[in-house]
Amino acid sequence: MNTRGEESLWSATAAPLTPFPALREAVQAQVAVIGAGYTGLSAALYLGEAGRDVVVLDAMDVGDGASGRNGGQVIPGLKYDPDTLEDMYGGDQGAKLVATVAAGPDLVFELIRKHDIGCEAVRSGWLQLATSESALAPIGMRARQWRARGAAVEMLGRADVARLTGSQRYYGGLIDRRGGTVQPLAYARGLARAAQRAGVRVFTHSAATHLERSAGEWRLRTRDGSVTCRQVVFATNAYSDKFVEPLQRTVVAVPSMQVATAPLPTELRRSILPEGQSVSDTWRLLRYFRLDGQGHLIMGSRGVFGDVPLVRAARLHYRAVQEIYPQLAGISFQYHWAGFVAMTPDHLPHLHEVAPGIVAGLGYNGRGVAMATMMGTLLARRLLGEGAEDLGFPVTAVRPMRLHRFSRFGAAAAIQYLRALDGAARFAERFTRRKRTM
Ligand SMILES: Cc1cc2nc3c(=O)[nH]c(=O)nc-3n(C[C@H](O)[C@H](O)[C@H](O)COP(=O)(O)OP(=O)(O)OC[C@H]3O[C@@H](n4cnc5c(N)ncnc54)[C@H](O)[C@@H]3O)c2cc1C
Repeated sequence: MNTRGEESLWSATAAPLTPFPALREAVQAQVAVIGAGYTGLSAALYLGEAGRDVVVLDAMDVGDGASGRNGGQVIPGLKYDPDTLEDMYGGDQGAKLVATVAAGPDLVFELIRKHDIGCEAVRSGWLQLATSESALAPIGMRARQWRARGAAVEMLGRADVARLTGSQRYYGGLIDRRGGTVQPLAYARGLARAAQRAGVRVFTHSAATHLERSAGEWRLRTRDGSVTCRQVVFATNAYSDKFVEPLQRTVVAVPSMQVATAPLPTELRRSILPEGQSVSDTWRLLRYFRLDGQGHLIMGSRGVFGDVPLVRAARLHYRAVQEIYPQLAGISFQYHWAGFVAMTPDHLPHLHEVAPGIVAGLGYNGRGVAMATMMGTLLARRLLGEGAEDLGFPVTAVRPMRLHRFSRFGAAAAIQYLRALDGAARFAERFTRRKRTM
């Protein structure tokens, strides 16, 4: 799937950004950050505010990676529930990790407030909804575990979910009031402006191509310039290229795609997501959706691998809209776009110490709005000298996957398989419902 070249809803509606220059000279800095998405910009902002002289380089433009293309859902937590994370990492480390992850949404909304970032930020909660009776139990367990840690998470019955979503499709679910939505590209651009105000120099269309060590310093080269610095942050996530090959081999870049309808008619806006929550459901290939400030309904799910035109891949998403919201039959679709999500074998993000003075953060498994923002601050704190044990996040060495070049095929086959299982489950469910009403 070609993930570039289609205008997204976000690029059509975000306030324009005064272009940043390309790097065309040799510059000195204390820290160079590679990647101008949430991870890199949040790290740069933190370091800039701490008085460090920082340069950010991006191969494309600010937010041209996943940060300007995502669903804008500020999702609290990771794939694993807090008890599981604590078991995985043990006592104190596990509890600190859970606290770090839980603080992600607060950090996002606080940065938006502090830097006055205009990005349609709404904090009315995130819904995780069950597509079957059996999916309710794990959601209930998640809600209980977060509640036990003081988080505002509640279970909702079928009628409440129907009222909050305007869809009869779901069996119930949870509302996590820590979550919310942002206009993702506007958020990325706002972070870049805030970093710039903190003294950070941002260069776009300036891919880092070489890294050398000389006289105790690092020298990064781009096509037309270079940065000499003491420390480097790699924040390239699913867009990691050959230049960061070992990091590239720690993640599998999986396509994810979204479509947006025309703004919903006022009548339907009153019943579809009237309180503005964002939603993820429990299909194996989950669907995620929300409204934006103008009433476009945005529906996302996994994309397709291979050379499939986006407009064809979008049909699966149109069908999802019709299935969840039959009342939207005949609505027109205005945008479709895609990007890459970085998946890791253990389904967890990673903070790596790559070499002396070089750190990297990546692998958000589709939950990076909050977590990548948080990761940026963790990377910055580490470079500012904070001990690995105090960060509240495990610091690990880079472990590239063996046979990584086949991972794309494996992921493509897995997606096809899961899509087929979901299709069969949907068919069985429709059949059962029809039988019940006969
Ligand atoms: C379609 C889609 C929907 C998603 N929906 C959600 C959601 O609703 N909620 C959520 O929490 N998460 C979501 N995600 C995930 C989230 O967007 C990412 O986890 C997050 O944006 C990662 O931020 P990042 O800064 O690490 O990486 P990115 O934003 O991808 O930035 C990486 C940057 O590195 C640059 N780069 C790469 N190589 C080089 C180089 N050699 N030199 C210079 N620059 C380089 C790239 O140009 C790119 O700009 C979604 C992702 C996608 C694709």
